[in-house]
Amino acid sequence: MNPKVRIAGVVKESIVDGPGIRFVVFAQGCPHHCQGCHNPATHDFNGGKLVAIETIIDEMQKNPLLDGITLSGGEPFEQPEAFCELARRSQALGYHVMAYTGYSYETLLAKKDQRQLLAHTDLLVDGKFEMAKKSLMLKFRGSQNQRIIDVKRSRHHNQIILSEII
Ligand code: SF4
Repeated sequence: MNPKVRIAGVVKESIVDGPGIRFVVFAQGCPHHCQGCHNPATHDFNGGKLVAIETIIDEMQKNPLLDGITLSGGEPFEQPEAFCELARRSQALGYHVMAYTGYSYETLLAKKDQRQLLAHTDLLVDGKFEMAKKSLMLKFRGSQNQRIIDVKRSRHHNQIILSEII
């Protein structure tokens, strides 16, 4: 299986999209339309380009300094199967996986394909961007309603456990 992801683009090296040095993939397509969205060009589900997962993995492996990959958007959970495969292959190579979503963790847990992607996600930043709760003081998120969830521990304990990197 070599699925493709529809993406707006990538940033090959970032220190602001999660812990450590990260490769960032921006999913193309987002249904949330948050007021004040930082990236409205990613909303169109027909925009961007289709890229083979192998191509992204190959690009990541060119950089020995990378700690992880961040799935940003757009809404990566609108393409759960393809992003699950990207996350799975990334983890198998030892990369830490972080994902952003406009959905709540609880909503994603209730859906089979999205749950599969969560199973290969280490940290999840959930919830829409809310302009009224915007803060520039927050680490790795834009508004105070968004949570940074330790997905592995949350799944293990069957309750939401926030990450200690907050
Ligand atoms: S979820 Fe993210 S990309 Fe989508 S509208 Fe909200 S801020 Fe923009």
